[in-house]
Amino acid sequence: MKQKTIQKEVTFTGVGLHLGQESHLTLKPAQANTGVVFVRVDLPNQPRIPAYIDYVHHQMRRTALAIDPQAQIHTPEHLLAACYGRGLDNLIIEIDSPEIPGMDGSSKPFYDHICEAGLEEQDAESKIYRVSIEVEVSEEKSSLKARPQENFTLNYTMDHDLAFLPRQQFTLEINEENFARELAPARTFVLKREAEALQKMGLGKGANTQNTLVIDDDGSVMENELRFENEFIRHKTLDLLGDLFLLGEKIQGYIEAERSGHALNAELVRKLKASR
Ligand SMILES: [Zn+2]
Repeated sequence: MKQKTIQKEVTFTGVGLHLGQESHLTLKPAQANTGVVFVRVDLPNQPRIPAYIDYVHHQMRRTALAIDPQAQIHTPEHLLAACYGRGLDNLIIEIDSPEIPGMDGSSKPFYDHICEAGLEEQDAESKIYRVSIEVEVSEEKSSLKARPQENFTLNYTMDHDLAFLPRQQFTLEINEENFARELAPARTFVLKREAEALQKMGLGKGANTQNTLVIDDDGSVMENELRFENEFIRHKTLDLLGDLFLLGEKIQGYIEAERSGHALNAELVRKLKASR
């Protein structure tokens, strides 16, 4: 399989879910072996921040990348999931704020913009990471396991210890068709009881019931309709895919996740990288 970039530039605008700033993005073609690189065009010298595990900088409830305390990119995971899902290897993303826009809370708008730009095969082979031994990371009730398999499958188990949000499991082989249909439209969510606490901490400034599913104490979704009966667990699977993009190689293997979030997802990527 050959590496791919986009055929032409595409521009869009949106508001970040956590920091609430409006930002303008331009996706541009990139040379083979560039990977996905964010460029903060609003900062002096326009620093480049690669979407790569070595630059992950931990933040609450989201992924963030940083090359120094000023040059950061928050919440790239839904955009990176779209890159993974579309099979895109190389891309320059110019952005004039620290946070990727939330759009509708899913990967679909990003996926659609990438499709609009078109894909172009490049003169270099895709980098493939074949899981050859079982690799596991865990923390309290959360765990992630990677094991050898011919294709690439994600298996997620969600359990919040809440009667109104029962334990559930979701399994999907990741290919472009499955991504576009089964994962890309799944939107981010928050428990109503958590939302107020997050807003007190200065997060969720750009979030509302249209770009974030807010789950009330009876399990219903406030002021919105679900796109899938199990939309929440599909979104957790989408987040995992976006975080796995940070390995910088396409994975061949079976990933089993129990209650994992961004910090543990990044831990797995580090351990995969170290255990080859
Ligand atoms: Zn998410």
